[in-house]
Amino acid sequence: MQTIKFYKEKRDFQKTPEPEGVEEPDYNGNNLFVIHKHDARSLHYDFRIEMEGALISWAVPKGPSTNPEDTRLALRTEDHPLKYANFEGVIPEGEYGAGTVLIWDRGTYHNIRAGKEKDDAGISASLKQGKIEIYLEGEKLKGGFALIRTGNDQPEKWILKKIKDEYADARRKPVSTEVKSVKSGKTLEELRN
Ligand code: MN
Repeated sequence: MQTIKFYKEKRDFQKTPEPEGVEEPDYNGNNLFVIHKHDARSLHYDFRIEMEGALISWAVPKGPSTNPEDTRLALRTEDHPLKYANFEGVIPEGEYGAGTVLIWDRGTYHNIRAGKEKDDAGISASLKQGKIEIYLEGEKLKGGFALIRTGNDQPEKWILKKIKDEYADARRKPVSTEVKSVKSGKTLEELRN
């Protein structure tokens, strides 16, 4: 499984500025989500949601779309510590994930399925079932998003999709037009220097 153990094994905390420990969330009991823009070997977006004390994570090569017609490939990656939600900076050459990490969006979420289905549709059950529907309250992204597992090979293949609601917007294209960090206001280029 994709546990925090893998996160720690892949990294040398003497060399990377990334956080080592698991830390309490900053959001007073709400579940948090964060989307990192990560300029590693190839540019991608890391979509992470809090679950049971960790950040469950997917790498989304094209990033999220606000157009409900778009399906975006999302590859499951190792769980990250909650403290990672505050991380942005430069991971040095030679280290795992070397490149620049920017907090593209951040906020809280709630589980949409829990209220409308009588089966167990808690967030950890949703993860096991491969069907997650969450409502984001971010600075850039708002409204419903679905994550649906399409394959069990490693890494697990999922798709990320906007759910049709008042925040669906086919023209907005936030990945290309809203490029700055919600933490520092910087671009990747500005963080690198
Ligand atoms: Mn990444």
